[in-house]
This record gives sequence, C-alpha cells and structure tokens, in this order.
Amino acid sequence: MAYTVPLTSTSCIKGGERPYFVCPGQVCGRPCLRQPFNLYSGGRHFLCRNCYRLAFQSQSETPHDWLLRRVSKLRPGNTLPPRR
Ligand SMILES: [Zn+2]
Repeated sequence: MAYTVPLTSTSCIKGGERPYFVCPGQVCGRPCLRQPFNLYSGGRHFLCRNCYRLAFQSQSETPHDWLLRRVSKLRPGNTLPPRR
C-alpha cells in the first residue's frame, strides 16, 4: 500500500534543516497538521500520537466501555450525577 506523508522542515539554530513529518490525520473533520517527532502506525495509517489515540478510542470503545470508564473515575463517597 502506498502512503504519502508530507514532510516539512525548519531551520536549526546550528544551521541546516531538520525534517518533520506533517500528520495526515484529521481532528473533528479538520486536518491535524501537527509536526510530531514520530508517527505511529495503527494498521494502515501513520498518525501522530494524538490522532492515533483518538482513532483507537473511537473505534474500539463501545457504550459499555464508555460507561465503565466513566464509572471507574468515581471514587468512594462520590455519587453519580442525578439523571434528569
Ligand atoms: Zn495528528
């Protein structure tokens, strides 16, 4: 599979240029365009850590998981907010 990741570069203080990846991911429908040091492979795509975490969560998380995660944040003595 061919996959193009744009590169950009910035000038170093010591001279020369340092290449950066430009993240091809999307956040809320907008291009991410972060310039991370590393890109992470989540299977087909190479994304920055932020996009990779978002994609992984939204794909793998079921409503049940969401509820569990929410409940696990509660501490003894705290109660769930009342339903309206
Ligand atoms: Zn990204």
